[in-house]
Order: sequence, then C-alpha cells, then structure tokens
Amino acid sequence: MSSPYVIGQASAPNIKITFVSNHLAHDYWTKRGLRSNNPFMKDISQTDILVVGAGPVGLFAVFACGQLGLRSHLVDALDGPGGQCTALYPMKPIYDVPAFPEISGKELIDRLLAQMKPYQPPMDFHVRVQELESVGGRWHATLTDGSVIDASAVIIAAGAGAFGPNRPPLQDIEKFEPDFVRYAVVDPAEFAGRHVVVAGGGDSAVDWAVELSSLAAHVHVVHRRDKFRASPAMVARMKELALEGRISLHVPGQLAGLKGGDELTHVMVRDAQHVEHKLPASHLLAFYGLKSDLSDISSMGIQVADGGIPVVPTSMATNLAGVFAVGDVARYDNKLKLILTGFSEASIAAHQAFAHVYPGRALSHEHSTSKGAPTGFSQ
Ligand SMILES: Cc1cc2nc3c(=O)[nH]c(=O)nc-3n(C[C@H](O)[C@H](O)[C@H](O)COP(=O)(O)OP(=O)(O)OC[C@H]3O[C@@H](n4cnc5c(N)ncnc54)[C@H](O)[C@@H]3O)c2cc1C
Repeated sequence: MSSPYVIGQASAPNIKITFVSNHLAHDYWTKRGLRSNNPFMKDISQTDILVVGAGPVGLFAVFACGQLGLRSHLVDALDGPGGQCTALYPMKPIYDVPAFPEISGKELIDRLLAQMKPYQPPMDFHVRVQELESVGGRWHATLTDGSVIDASAVIIAAGAGAFGPNRPPLQDIEKFEPDFVRYAVVDPAEFAGRHVVVAGGGDSAVDWAVELSSLAAHVHVVHRRDKFRASPAMVARMKELALEGRISLHVPGQLAGLKGGDELTHVMVRDAQHVEHKLPASHLLAFYGLKSDLSDISSMGIQVADGGIPVVPTSMATNLAGVFAVGDVARYDNKLKLILTGFSEASIAAHQAFAHVYPGRALSHEHSTSKGAPTGFSQ
C-alpha cells in the first residue's frame, strides 16, 4: 500500500493491522484509501482514544485529549463533522457559547475543527460504531464498514444517537447517493458553478439555499407548502434572492424523480396542479430531517437509560471501564443539554481516559498558557 499515512503493517491470516500515524492524516477524505478492498480482511487502526461522534463535543474531546498527549480517532455516522450544529441549524445564531456573543452553528464547528487541527485525528464518516469488544484490556470497536479500531479508551459523544437522513421516496435514489444526492453539506465550495436543487422547508434547507446561492450557478428550492419552518430572517433573505433571480422557489412543489445516467442531470418536480417540471441539476440536497438511533450504543453493552448513557458526573465514566460518555448523550442529575456543558465533560473525560492509556503515570494539571501553542504530536 502506498498511502503516505501508513507507517507500518503486520499481517496475520485474515487480519491486516495498519498502524496509522495520526499527524500524517492531513486529509480525512483520502484517508478512506486505507481501507482494504478484501471483504475477508479486516483493517485494524490503533489509537489511544476512539471518539464516537463528531458533533461539537466530540470535536472538543479530540482537542482535550490532544492537549494531554493522547491521539484520537474520530467516527461519525454523518457525511461530515458538526453533529446537530451543521446538520440541523448551520446558520442559526447561538448566543450562549462563552466568549462568542453570537456565533452560527457552522462557524462554531469550523472553529472547533481549526482548534483541534494540530492533532490531525483520522476521521471516518458515513460509518457507525456497531460493536465494542474488550480485548486484553483494550477496546476493539467494529464499524459498519467492517473495519476495526483498537483503542485504549473510548469517549462516546453520540448526541441523540447515530443520525441518519429521512430519504425522499424516489426511485433509484440510492444510485445517486452519496455523490449527487446529499443529506448534509460538508464543503460548500463543491457546489461552485453547479445547478443545485434544495428540498425541504426547515432551517437546514433555507440556510443552505441562501449560503449556496452566492456560489452555485443556480439554486432551486422545492417545498411542499408556502410556509417555511425556518428563521424568519433567513426566509426573508431567501425570498429576496428569489426576486434577484439567484434562487427559484417551487412552492408548493414535490420531488417527483431523478434523471441521469452515471451522473444526476435533472430533478423532476411536481407542482400543485400535478404538472411535472424538469429542473437541470447536478446535485439534490434533501433536508427532510434526521432520525437518530441509540440502538448501536445499547448493543455495545453500554448501559442506556432515559434516552442516554448514565455516567458518574465527576469522571464521565459509564458502566464499562475505560468507556466514557459526554455531551447530549450523557445522563446524570441536573444535566443541561448545552454545548458548553459538553465541553467541560469532554475535558473531564480526557483527563480520566489518560489513566487507561498510561496506567500508573501521574498527570499533573497544566494550563494551556503554560503548555504553549498546540503543536501536535512528534513522530
Ligand atoms: C435547533 C437547535 C438549536 C440549538 N441551540 C442551542 C443553543 O443555542 N445553545 C446550546 O448550547 N445548544 C443548542 N442546541 C443543542 C446543541 O446543538 C447540542 O447540545 C449539541 O449539538 C450536543 O453536541 P454533541 O456533540 O453531544 O452531540 P451531537 O451534536 O448530537 O452530535 C452527535 C454525533 O454523534 C454521531 N453518532 C451517534 N451515534 C453514533 C454511532 N454509533 N456511530 C457513529 N456516529 C454516531 C451522530 O451522527 C452525530 O453527528 C440546539 C439544538 C438544536 C436542534
């Protein structure tokens, strides 16, 4: 294998162990090239901490671990980082993140990604952690793509559970996923000069329609009724852009089909009179909400109660030794489901996880001002 990220390999009959150098994993998309094409061969990546969930709290957990010299590997069921912030309210202003009088969900995630950048964790998207097995004092997590992550400790930052999109019921939709039909936007620049159809009437649909209208060749918005369930200011902005000709509104309208060969070329839309219109489009962005599911977590042997994971709030420990839960998924008395609470929990969990990576080694507290600028890991 010629991937620049692989620094060593060892083989056993059906197992290939891939040692990944985190700080070399500059590009998490190309990192997917590490995976074996042989379905009978498991890829095993080794890390100090497996972080399950790339929402705001999972991203901060990577930083908090990095500050203690712990390498992380991040996994999320969605197509990209951000959890609820980017999937549900990217452009909505948040007012209660300390030191930011106002910050959008997307900007918060961009800043968290920049903050953890020195620690360059491998990131696997579009996969869920399905199984967790204790092997010789370490944790082996099996992902839905069959690969395995071998970690000293696990931090679960799974929010309300693995997110999955509500798909529009269109024939052959799978054929166009994930290249041409998307349920989240990871990199808006991808849509520069493209014809894009945005479907839905909530915050994500309206926010992304407005955001992409400055980049895309044209944006069509399809919604089944004239009323939008989004921030009034953003709906007003979208309507202004429609008057300027940057956005075409198809309301009331319904998705009726997808056309194309290897690539998407058109999206069919049915109007209130049941007349079908053929919209030229390279991409359909469907924002019909997300369904979340904690069943993966309970099948891992982690105790689940009251829609979350009960933890000891002073350590964020779950019922499994070396497995911690933080953020919205963590449950204890008087829990506040807030981003700032999750940040504090992530820091507590990182300090507790240290003892599982380096048993017996003392960890003395040091302020970041004393440590200096994060520089990542030396080889
Ligand atoms: C409309 C709205 C407005 C909000 N406004 C505010 C606000 O003003 N202030 C505030 O503090 N909070 C606000 N919140 C709440 C805030 O967004 C959450 O508290 C925060 O996102 C929790 O972060 P998290 O990282 O714990 O979980 P999430 O953001 O939910 O991320 C969890 C991630 O884990 C992934 N995941 C779960 N299970 C698995 C698995 N088995 N394998 C792989 N991946 C998995 C999910 O796909 C998801 O991406 C708001 C929420 C909403 C919906």
